[in-house]
Amino acid sequence: MIVVKFGGTSMADAAAIRRAGEIVRTRLKREPIVVVSALSGVTNQLLQVGAQAVEGQLVPAMATVQALRERHLNEAHALLGDTASGLEVAGELSSMMDELAALAEALSVLGHGTPRAMDKIAALGEQLSSLIAAAAFREMGLAARHVDARDVMRTDERFGKAEPQPELISEAARRVLSPIIRAGQVPVLGGFVGATAQRVTTTLGRGGSDYSASLIGAALRAEAIEIWTDVDGMLSADPRVVADARLIAEIRFDEASELASFGAKVLHPSTIAPAVKLGIPVYLFNSRNPAGTGTRITFEAPHRPVTAIAGKKNVTVIKVRSARMLMAHGVLRRIFEVFEQHRTSVDVVATSEVSVSVTIDDTTYLEALLNDLQPLGDVSVERNRGILALVGSGMSDDSQAMARALAALEGARVHMVSLSASGINLTLIVDGDQVDPGIRRLHAAFFGRQVA
Ligand code: ASP
Ligand code: MG
Repeated sequence: MIVVKFGGTSMADAAAIRRAGEIVRTRLKREPIVVVSALSGVTNQLLQVGAQAVEGQLVPAMATVQALRERHLNEAHALLGDTASGLEVAGELSSMMDELAALAEALSVLGHGTPRAMDKIAALGEQLSSLIAAAAFREMGLAARHVDARDVMRTDERFGKAEPQPELISEAARRVLSPIIRAGQVPVLGGFVGATAQRVTTTLGRGGSDYSASLIGAALRAEAIEIWTDVDGMLSADPRVVADARLIAEIRFDEASELASFGAKVLHPSTIAPAVKLGIPVYLFNSRNPAGTGTRITFEAPHRPVTAIAGKKNVTVIKVRSARMLMAHGVLRRIFEVFEQHRTSVDVVATSEVSVSVTIDDTTYLEALLNDLQPLGDVSVERNRGILALVGSGMSDDSQAMARALAALEGARVHMVSLSASGINLTLIVDGDQVDPGIRRLHAAFFGRQVA
C-alpha cells in the first residue's frame, strides 16, 4: 500500500485532476490511498472570506464565495459533464457553498470569528476537492471511493493547528481505509482536515495535507508516500538564483529539514516526520512530468559533504560584547533567556571568550530584545546581513569542503562562520547583497558549471 498525495497545483483544474487520475492509474497495483489538497489558492480564498466577513465586508466576501462556487462547479462539469454522478456532485458542491455563504453571513453579524468557525470554513477546500477528485477518478474508470477525512483524521481541539492523535488515526485508518483497499478500491480523501472526538471539524495548519498523507502512511505502515507537486523535486539550489541547479535524487531527512529552514518551499519536512521515522520513504514528484525520477527523502540516504547550497537575506545580527564574560559562567544562559522571553528564535550562533553573536530572522521584538540585552554587555545590531549555507550531512568529515567554500567566496566579507557539530551545515554570514552571488559561486565550486 502506498499513499499518493496531490498538492493544490496538481489539483488546480479539470486537466490537472485528470493528470492526477492517470498517475493513480499507474499505481493501482501498489494499492494507493489518495490524499488531495484543495484546488490551488482555495484555502487562501476561504480564509479571506472568513476574515472579510468578520470585518463586516460581506459584499467582497460573497463575491469570493461566488467565484469559488463557479470555479468548483465549472471544473466538476468539465470532468463529469451532465452524467448522473456529475449532477450529484454539483448538488453536493452547491450545498457546501450555501453552507459557506451562511457561515460568512453569520460571522458578519457576529463581527467575530472563533478559530473553530474558521476551521469549518478552511476545511471546505479539501472537502470540495476530494469530492470532485473521487468522482472524476471514477469517471476515468478507477474504482475510487470518497472518504470523509473526519472519519479518519482524529485530532485534539486546537482549532487552526490541531494536534493529530496517531493511535486513534491508526485505529480509524484500519477500520475505514483498509476494507476499501481490500475490496480493490482506491480511497480518496482530503488532506489538512480532521475532527475532534465529538466530530467537530478541525484543520492541521497551513500545508497540512502533507501531514495528513504522512500520518495515514504511518498509521497503515505504507511502503512509500508520494507527494506530487509542480516541481521535479528538491534542487541543489534555488533555481531562480542558480539556473542550472540540479535535481537531488536522494536526500537525508535532516538535510531536507535544514533546506526547508532556508525557505525551500517544496514541503515542510516536519510534516513528513511521522512516516520517515518509521523508515517509510517519501518521494517528491512533479505531476506535470510524471516520468521524472523525483527526490527520495529518507533517514538513511548516504552522507555527502554538500547536498545543496541555500541562502537567505534580511538577516539581523545581534552582538553582545562584555569583558565580564571572560572566564564567567551562566552568561550564555542569560543571553538566550532574553531571546526566549521575547519569543524570538535564534538561528546561527558564534561565540568568543568575550562576545556572542547571534542571527535572527524575525525582528518583531527587536527593541525589547536590545533593551533586555543591554545590561549584559555592549550590544550592537547589524541589519541587512545574509546567510549562506552549505547543507550536507558529511560536511564535517570532509576537510576540504570548508577551504573550498571560503576560496569560492574570496573577496566577499564573511562576518561569521559556523560549522554545526552534527556536520549538517556550514553557515556563513555575509552582506545581504552577497547572498545571491555567493550561492552562485558556491554552487559552481561544488557542482560545477555556471560561474557567478
Ligand atoms: N490547502 C491547505 C493549505 O493551503 C493544506 C495543503 O494544501 O497542504 O494550507
Ligand atoms: Mg497546498
